[in-house]
Amino acid sequence: MLEIKNLHVKLEEEDKVILKGVDLTVEAGKVHAIMGPNGSGKSTLSYVLSGRDGYEVTEGSATLGGEDILDMEPEERAAAGLFLAFQYPVEIPGVGNMTFLRTAVNAQRKARGEEELSAADFLKVVREKAKALEIDANMLKRPVNVGFSGGEKKRNEILQMAMLEPKMCILDETDSGLDVDAMKLVADGVNALRDEGRGFLVITHYQRLLDHIKPDVVHILSDGRIIKTGGPELALEVENNGYAGLKAEVA
Ligand code: ADP
Ligand code: MG
Ligand code: MG
Repeated sequence: MLEIKNLHVKLEEEDKVILKGVDLTVEAGKVHAIMGPNGSGKSTLSYVLSGRDGYEVTEGSATLGGEDILDMEPEERAAAGLFLAFQYPVEIPGVGNMTFLRTAVNAQRKARGEEELSAADFLKVVREKAKALEIDANMLKRPVNVGFSGGEKKRNEILQMAMLEPKMCILDETDSGLDVDAMKLVADGVNALRDEGRGFLVITHYQRLLDHIKPDVVHILSDGRIIKTGGPELALEVENNGYAGLKAEVA
């Protein structure tokens, strides 16, 4: 599904190298988790994959279903099936949440060669999915993320993901700032989307989200490199020994 090879990334504006040769393959149907200390490059990886400006790939490749995504515009990557749930969801004043979702869903359907959803069908689906995430009608009417609490923003990201049904879902610290109940809602939303045709890359700082979203593979990113890969037990090891302990062990 997603194949990253020897990815090196630096900042465009500065001579700061952030990713120093990342290799990672997420197979369809699998959930991979990336954990790592603050500043290790987790968000940078998600930004580079989704096409944010300001980063330069100096070496390596990234493909989605065999297609090179690094040369694509962000909207082309989305059309190819990539989705990123932001660590810091963006507020979009003046754009109603429902309008935003409908426009995005129909653009996605168009890219896949499918017909637009009728207004009635769209409403039915969005209400059902919003309800599961405890997003009320009022939040659907308000401008995207404007005045939403931290937890509401994160749940809104998952609603977007559920509506778009991407092939490859990247979640960047969707658990941070969530209380236990909201985290359960988010995890349920992710688990409902788990499917043989879909891959997940779940970036998290803490192990607790992985109690609810059982990963198949766990990677530790430290200083721009994956220093260790293992099963779910690796997340527990980090919880018990910290990243410092792990770095020392690897060194
Ligand atoms: P993480 O998500 O693992 O906490 P980031 O990818 O956000 O890490 O950041 C990795 C490193 O790159 C940090 O040292 C961060 O300060 C730096 N960095 C990332 N983006 C920028 C930017 N646009 N300008 C300056 N420094 C940046
Ligand atoms: Mg960070
Ligand atoms: Mg980050």
